[in-house]
Amino acid sequence: MPGTNDRFDGKRVLADLNALRAIGAYRTGVHKPTFSEPHLRSLDWLAARLPEAELVAAIDGIGNVFGTSAKAGPKLLAGSHLESQNHAGWLDGPLGVIYALEAARVINPDPGIHGAVEVASWCDEEGHFGSFLGSRSYAGAVSEADIDAARDRSGDRTLRQALQDAGFAGRPRVTAEAGRHIGYLEAHIEQGDTLESSGLKVGIVTSIVGIWQYRITFTGAQNHAGTTRMAVRKDAGLALARFCVAIDDSFPALCGPRTVWTTGRITLDPGAPSVIPGSAEMLFQIRDDNPAVIERLEQQLRRMAAEVTAQGRSAVQVERIRTGVPATMTSAFQDAIEAASAACAGGKSIRMPSGAGHDAQVLATIMPAAMLFVPSIGGISHHWSENTDDADIVTGAEVFVETCRRLLAG
Ligand SMILES: [Zn+2]
Repeated sequence: MPGTNDRFDGKRVLADLNALRAIGAYRTGVHKPTFSEPHLRSLDWLAARLPEAELVAAIDGIGNVFGTSAKAGPKLLAGSHLESQNHAGWLDGPLGVIYALEAARVINPDPGIHGAVEVASWCDEEGHFGSFLGSRSYAGAVSEADIDAARDRSGDRTLRQALQDAGFAGRPRVTAEAGRHIGYLEAHIEQGDTLESSGLKVGIVTSIVGIWQYRITFTGAQNHAGTTRMAVRKDAGLALARFCVAIDDSFPALCGPRTVWTTGRITLDPGAPSVIPGSAEMLFQIRDDNPAVIERLEQQLRRMAAEVTAQGRSAVQVERIRTGVPATMTSAFQDAIEAASAACAGGKSIRMPSGAGHDAQVLATIMPAAMLFVPSIGGISHHWSENTDDADIVTGAEVFVETCRRLLAG
């Protein structure tokens, strides 16, 4: 019926999110690893919805779903992802996709609005086969050789096989068309408790933190755990443990207000109770939105490594294995979200960086990009109990649609 699709409908947003939750349900969350059967069904579900928003649906050769519009005027790209972490929450990803769909349903059929919202669901944001595979493919940053080399992190299926099984092999991959979009907008649950603990409804993302990762190796001397006197040991495991503590002691004086650091995996070699570890390794990660802070902390790591090495018991090496440049969100888009929050959410918004990675950071490399957050109950995410109040979901959707309207109006 004409005229029924052009009004914002919060109930429709909730119903759609629950429909996606029913596909691959796990407790109150979902289990939808990339290219699993429930993930593929979710992609088809979205493709079937897109015509409601006067969009032509297509799924490309990497599993990205696109809804494209033939309407005249400026076009805004909006979306998120539909796969999940294993046994995880129902909103991480689908929230942003359904907000985009709702914005398109409200805006595209409206002849009074010049321009359209186009919808994207980026494949494998959660990194089962790679990291930001779909959005990076769209940005032209994934080669055929990258696809050849990728495999499922938890199984033995290659990406090529998974694409074959899904029926996507041989399809072209869609890449960004220069000048087509005025920018990209993505909504996401906060996955932290900043909004909830402050009674706020909308987070306006200022930047998405960069992630720097290091492999720190310790080389001592492997020896008998019963006969080697304590005084002469070169225990690489002990050196590693001390190093971890030293990081925690020295970083607070050098870091920024929101810097976080984590030792993710420790390996001792040979890792037997009767053998003094001859070598040890730790994978270490730092996140911040300021490269100068990271630079300072990295220098500190190298200084500490040199000091321990000079003491003569263990040689320490610091190797940077991943550099993630922080992504700055477009300030005019942030202003639009703020104005929309004032109009639809009583101004209960705050500007904040994102500590988690999102497809928006990839899109930000090729067009203006912005993100808005809605509250997460208890700050919980990447867990099946992840949730957001229905009322907050609806408020966020309203702010999202209003933001799209304002961005298209220029
Ligand atoms: Zn996500």
